[in-house]
Amino acid sequence: MSEKNTDFIRRIIDEDLAAGKYPDGLVTRFPPEPNGYLHVGHAKSICLNFGIAEAYANSVCNLRFDDTNPGKENVEYVDSIREDVKWLGFDPGDRVYFASDYFERLYAFAEQLIKDGKAYVCGLSADDIRRTRGTLTEPGTPSPDRNRPAEENLDLFRRMRAGEFADGTYILRAKIDMASPTLCLRDPAIYRIRHESHHRTGDKWCIYPMYDFAHPLSDAIEGVTHSLCTLEFANNRPLYDWFVEQLTDPPRPKQTEFARLNLTYTVLSKRKLSRLVSEGFVSGWDDPRMPTIAGIRRRGVPPGALRNFCDLIGIAKKESLVDVALLEYAVREQLNKTAPRRMAVIHPLKVVIENYPEGEGEEMTAVNNPEDPDAGTRMVPFSRELYIEADDFMEEPPKKFFRLAPGREVRLRYAYFIKCESVIKDASGNIVELRCTYDPATRGGDAPDGRKVKATLHWVSARHAVAAEVRLYDRLFLKENPSDDEGRDFTEFLNPDSLQPLFPCFLEPALTQAAPCRAFQFERLGYFCADAKDATPDRPVFNRTVTLRDTWAR
Ligand code: ATP
Ligand code: MG
Ligand code: MG
Repeated sequence: MSEKNTDFIRRIIDEDLAAGKYPDGLVTRFPPEPNGYLHVGHAKSICLNFGIAEAYANSVCNLRFDDTNPGKENVEYVDSIREDVKWLGFDPGDRVYFASDYFERLYAFAEQLIKDGKAYVCGLSADDIRRTRGTLTEPGTPSPDRNRPAEENLDLFRRMRAGEFADGTYILRAKIDMASPTLCLRDPAIYRIRHESHHRTGDKWCIYPMYDFAHPLSDAIEGVTHSLCTLEFANNRPLYDWFVEQLTDPPRPKQTEFARLNLTYTVLSKRKLSRLVSEGFVSGWDDPRMPTIAGIRRRGVPPGALRNFCDLIGIAKKESLVDVALLEYAVREQLNKTAPRRMAVIHPLKVVIENYPEGEGEEMTAVNNPEDPDAGTRMVPFSRELYIEADDFMEEPPKKFFRLAPGREVRLRYAYFIKCESVIKDASGNIVELRCTYDPATRGGDAPDGRKVKATLHWVSARHAVAAEVRLYDRLFLKENPSDDEGRDFTEFLNPDSLQPLFPCFLEPALTQAAPCRAFQFERLGYFCADAKDATPDRPVFNRTVTLRDTWAR
């Protein structure tokens, strides 16, 4: 029995197991095509497939690269996919397979079909094949080659393999039923000629199997019991079944479809994401604004948060558009418990404490994580000159503004009360510095005479501060569903302000040790992590993972 929240797929499995099916356990697979980086939609599929293998006794999940399309696929994508699956916390162990490793067996299956009179070599052009396929109401027209004798088909097919023909001259088609009400059964293509190098098999092959043929048979070769895929494959299920029934013995794999994940304000399609990369709208597949696993990781999202998100959305049979705020909620939930707190000022305003001795300083004890007593404390340097957040000060504060203002006293977190005595401006009237005084009796944050302040500000000692670039991110698209394109190109809906770099920002010195991708809570500002790529020793770069404010309404 599965322990996790039960979805319709696990319910089917539970019933099957109760009926004595699958005595040897379950085999699932995650079958990416290595033609791009994985995105959060793939994370949903990974969590489902690997999650089922973890939940049921004697069960395993294969990572299978569906690499039957030379040209679009490459080793960089293969490597990134392996890394992303591992990062999410799943380990396929030695169960990593490539459909291209089955090319010889798939070819033998195709010859088998030809010998059985169930496949033929067709000389129609791709256009003609489309035209003669018929419609939902009209049957298709048989190809003139449909009744070519098996020996002739075999000879032609072998010559296709031998490289005698140019791309598009012939294809191998299954001979099923040109009048079938199920369109995918109208003599679908199973092999095409492609004189193109493959990232694993090189120039060994110039014919390649179609997805609809390679996929079910790869499942069968691997002994997959449950072939879980997204709804767009539902129409092709009769063809999936036809191939495994013609060519393999029971027990056969069974395909079950579930709804793909769609997220608001982004696109989850490798083709579209690949355009964002190649046309330079983002810095790469791992740009922290991308919904790719690599982008999300670089942004500072921990793998557990992504897995929790996948649990929250569940598995359904109907497509829906999930609010990206739910992902952000899952990230905050996790980071609130785990992220160490630090102080950083991203819009700095200088504060000089006039009555604090010049050249001196001290260290304040700061709590690393109030949610986690084991996280301990650290020392934060304090001195006469500090930075506070510019918007924590207002010269003429409106009624509800309780932070710093002329003549007003506030608390500096873990330090003292300070009072603003005067404001220094530049020639154009911009505030450049505040002159304040502090009360030495308030060290640690409370006044012995019991007087109260209404605000506590974060701060960084100017002399000790680390200057860094901080990158604020907003949604990549302005439109809730950019794929619903209204006839316009989805790139027209990109948010021009999705990246806002700030420099210099000032960080407390402990942040120089921040490991890339590991998020911290910058107090009062949000969660941030050191960037894995663009940081240099003299210019650290931090990415905002998420803000603190939750917009997810349950
Ligand atoms: P895309 O549609 O983004 O190009 P794909 O479906 O072509 O992706 P594959 O590499 O073929 O990507 O997919 C690997 C597996 O991940 C498939 O089983 C597919 O159904 C699943 N998958 C892809 N996108 C999603 C999604 N948005 N939600 C859930 N599962 C998905
Ligand atoms: Mg695909
Ligand atoms: Mg797809």
